[in-house]
Order: sequence, then structure tokens, then C-alpha cells
Amino acid sequence: MRAPWHALAGILPESRLLASVAEFTHHRDIDALDHSVVLSLAELVPVNSVTLCKRGESMQHPVESIVVCSRKADGGLVVEAIDPGREGDPIDTIVCAMEMLEAISDVTDDGISRLVIPIQRDHAAIGALMLESEDALDDVRSMVEGFARIYGNYIALLNDSERDKLTGLYNRRSFEQRLQRLLKLQRQRARAPSSCGSAADGETTLFLAILDIDHFKRINDTYGHVYGDEVILMLAQQMRACFRQSDVLFRFGGEEFVVLLAAQDEAEVHDVLDRFRGFVGEHAYPQVGHVTVSVGYARITESDYPEIVLDRADKALYFAKQHGRDSVHGYEALAARGELAAPVALGSIDLF
Ligand code: GH3
Ligand code: MG
Ligand code: MG
Repeated sequence: MRAPWHALAGILPESRLLASVAEFTHHRDIDALDHSVVLSLAELVPVNSVTLCKRGESMQHPVESIVVCSRKADGGLVVEAIDPGREGDPIDTIVCAMEMLEAISDVTDDGISRLVIPIQRDHAAIGALMLESEDALDDVRSMVEGFARIYGNYIALLNDSERDKLTGLYNRRSFEQRLQRLLKLQRQRARAPSSCGSAADGETTLFLAILDIDHFKRINDTYGHVYGDEVILMLAQQMRACFRQSDVLFRFGGEEFVVLLAAQDEAEVHDVLDRFRGFVGEHAYPQVGHVTVSVGYARITESDYPEIVLDRADKALYFAKQHGRDSVHGYEALAARGELAAPVALGSIDLF
């Protein structure tokens, strides 16, 4: 027989609460942090489960990830990530709380108390925490709200450290982790039963593209760094506008950008990248005028090391730079045509 909440809330020592907060905020990896938050809450209060839902960036995928800590029959706790494409109850309730930016407290048909607290950032929900219990949850509500606020603040700090200051795109430091997350999301979507998806997505492959502004040094030399920065900033804004929300955009450094994007095949990814290249070439940048970009891309598979894929895309980019710039090349197509085999052309021997 469990003690009622009001009794538990009264006896929960501050030291345990602080230890819990200290435990989850020591993580720098977002997945480990999410895992630790649900576990910490489930250890503090005897719930059936604690769910952390993170909001997706598109209407098509309103939920990016779901992590659940459940109490098993023997009292042990198990944490697992579940399919974010899942629909129906209780995900609909969580999405509703996130959209309305309001806590929801209700009791399910089978008598389970449920409390959903949105996690806010800049007047929008970035996710939600949901507790389910056989007992009423009113007495723990303010504590869960506190957890949601600390988590929201902390995740904002982690997110800021992942962003490039000038453009707001992801920085190079966050590349590997973002790539792993994307691969995981793709695995989950591939495993999800097709009946729950509204439209048939079809199998997609991930690609990595490197975009580099052509002759950027000239822009700096002719117009100065401030105009150079302005071009970088505008290009980043154009990338945000032209690529899909599900594509992940990075500023890797200087005037070099990376895009992680899914496509049905090489022809599709080539088309998307070439359209962007064309769009950039037609645009007149203030003072500077026309600017072009060269693009190299490569396919990513589960077994590839990120550095290897970066190196392949870089080789394709190098090829573009060597063959007139303002163009898009794919590593696999170049390799299949044997165009990467001979780095030094006869008659133009450059030894060093
Ligand atoms: P290429 O077509 O071969 O790419 O020629 P490039 O002139 O663009 O060559 P490179 O990539 O070597 O030069 C990039 C230059 O970008 C060098 C550096 O001075 C400048 N740069 C790097 N970071 C920044 C930045 O944050 N702002 C500005 N304005 N310039 C930058
Ligand atoms: Mg360049
Ligand atoms: Mg460069």
C-alpha cells in the first residue's frame, strides 16, 4: 500500500531533489540528459511511468523524440526511447498540452492519473513531461513544473553551445551528435509500421553535402570583412528558406556549410542541391553583387565513419573547384566514372 502524495511530498528531502537535479544537469549529451531526467523523476515519485516528449520542427512530425521510464512489476525502472511517429493516446494529449502551452491533468478510463507539463522556451513548448500514476498527482505538480523549467533552461544552454554565433546554424562541434541522431531517427522511421504513416514516405538515404562560397577571399579583399560576413549571413538565411525543415544545416567554419539531407536517390539530392546553387547564383547580394557556390556531396550509410563521409564530400567539392566552380558533384558518381582516380593531370604537373 502506497503512502498518499501529500505525505510523500512532505517527506521528500531537499537534498534528494538537489541530488536529482545535479545528476541530470551533469550530462552534456542530449540523449543522456533526456534519459536521466525521466529516470530521476521516476526515482523521486512512485509513478507508473514518466515520459519526456520533444517537439519536432515540422507539422508532419510534431514529435521528434519520446523517452519513457516505466516501472516494472518488480518495482525496477526501465528507460527506453519509443517511436516518435506514434499516434493516438497519450501522444495526442501531450501534443495538445504543447500546442496550448498549458498543463493537462486528467484521469484515464482505467483510473490512471495523468499529469502533462509543457516545457517552455521563448513562449513556445519545446517538449513536455508526462507522469502517470495510480495515485493523484496534484501534490507533485509544482515539483514537476520545476523540473520542466530547469530542463528547459539547461537544454537551451546546450542548444546555444551547438549553434554558430553569426548564422544561428549548427556548428561543427555538434556535427557528429546531430548525425547520430538523424541516423537513429531514420532507423526508427524505417522500423515504424507503414499503417501509422499517412503518406508513404518511401525508403530514403541520407546524404552529406559541403557547400563552399567561390572566391570568397576576393569578396573580403574587395569589399571588406563586414560585407563578407553579410554574404555568409544571407547565404545561411537562404539555406534555411530553401532546404526542408528536416534537413540539418551547419556552418562548418569560414564560408563553408554542411547539409545533412534525406533523398530517395542520388538524382533527387543532386537536383535539390543544384537548385540551391542556381538560386544563389541568380541572387544579387548588397554591394557585392553575384556570388556562386560549389557543392560536393556523398551518401551516408550506417557503417560509415563521419570523417570518411566528410572526406568523400570534400573530394567531390574539390573536383567542383577544379572544374570551373559554380557546380554540384557527387562522390559516388565521380568515383564510378573514375574521375577521382587521377589527381594530377598530365601536362600540369604540380608536385607540391
Ligand atoms: P575557393 O573558390 O577555392 O573556395 O576560394 P576562396 O577564396 O573561397 O578560398 P578559401 O576557402 O581558401 O578562402 C576562404 C576565406 O574566407 C579565407 C578567410 O579569410 C575568409 N573567412 C573565413 N572565415 C570568415 C568569416 O567569418 N568572415 C569573413 N568575412 N571571412 C572569413
Ligand atoms: Mg571558398
Ligand atoms: Mg573554404
